[in-house]
Amino acid sequence: MTAMRRSRENDPMAELVEVQTDALPEADDPYLLTPGPLTTSRRTKEAMLHDWGSWDVEFNEVTADIRRRLITMVGGGETYDCVPLQGSGTYCVEAMLSSFIPKDGWALVLMNGAYGQRAAKTLQYLGRDYIKLDKGDYLPPLPEEVDDLLNRHPEVTDVVAIHCETSSGILNPLQGISDVVMKHGRRLLVDAMSAFGAVPLDVSDVPFEAMVSSANKCIEGVPGFGFVVAKETALAEAEGRSHSLSLDVHDQWAYMNRTSQWRFTPPTHSVVAFREALLQHEEEGGVPGRLARYSRNREVMVEGMRELGFSTLLEDEWLSPIITTFFCPVDKNFSFTRFYDELKARKFIIYPGKLTEAESFRIGCIGQLDEHVMRQLLTAVEDALKVMGVKDCRPAERQES
Ligand SMILES: *Cc1c(COP(=O)(O)O)cnc(C)c1O
Repeated sequence: MTAMRRSRENDPMAELVEVQTDALPEADDPYLLTPGPLTTSRRTKEAMLHDWGSWDVEFNEVTADIRRRLITMVGGGETYDCVPLQGSGTYCVEAMLSSFIPKDGWALVLMNGAYGQRAAKTLQYLGRDYIKLDKGDYLPPLPEEVDDLLNRHPEVTDVVAIHCETSSGILNPLQGISDVVMKHGRRLLVDAMSAFGAVPLDVSDVPFEAMVSSANKCIEGVPGFGFVVAKETALAEAEGRSHSLSLDVHDQWAYMNRTSQWRFTPPTHSVVAFREALLQHEEEGGVPGRLARYSRNREVMVEGMRELGFSTLLEDEWLSPIITTFFCPVDKNFSFTRFYDELKARKFIIYPGKLTEAESFRIGCIGQLDEHVMRQLLTAVEDALKVMGVKDCRPAERQES
């Protein structure tokens, strides 16, 4: 890499630079089988080798370009706008909830895992009234249940839905939920964090009021910011609603449209990396292209894990191409910590489970991974089990039957 070689000659910090350059996934880094941050391409990382002025016209053009591309991705045309916002995904969810739900509004939160629960907790902080539909760890909120609740609760103004509930990996039936919400004339706010860019979401099918995602999920950028895509009318109406200056989506939007700049210091390197990631997303065939690769990753991985004896938490119908939850085996030689370490030694980082009831772990399918990587993972899993002396990978309840 020429940029690096030049640094080595002229830069007293050359040693440090060299070490960092070597730490690329094709060298020594493990693959991140996690739902973000995830394994990014070398090209995306290389985009961060420059420094940008936050006020500079070239940087402002990158911001404008990102916004346009994201609006196009949801078919938002002239009626939607995109507002990037500093912080991790949760900051943007909080910004969306506080900016779009009126202070005297009522939300219905559709919960089936940690992110639905976090949305409810956020509303508590914000002092917004809400009711909830809580389906526990692994069942989807069904359109007919939402229909019934909206019939019984005319006070509900906004429905908050999670597209892919990353804690179990379930892909929630957003289309059906949206149809019901629209039939009742209520507004739909979507946390599409972990699905956006890989699972289709188009405003002609799901005319959401606002949705939110972040840089380090399926677009395969690095952490640093998220973005809200919302109806322009909603962005205009949001004036004066937010409890927070830094999380005020309306203010960020109005300022950005007026000045082309972010209100406060933007995560410049993360933004330019994201643009590079968006270009690669397009080259891969956009959402359908990415969906095809991730789906194949999941197919190969789940099939191989099942052959080894593992069971998925979810029935096939609800498996997302984002992340899959497996039950921990009851085999007394199995320990998650040991399993994690053995896989890490073989260059794969997996994810702990997030279920309230059963012991589980998760394996992600997103990021710069393909089916070959997934096959290497399966070999690593087989090796790890052998070293640990685990023979039976069935979960508790299934061994007894
Ligand atoms: C990742 C994620 C978030 C945001 O999490 P952060 O750690 O704040 O980035 C929110 N909702 C869902 C569904 C997610 O997958």
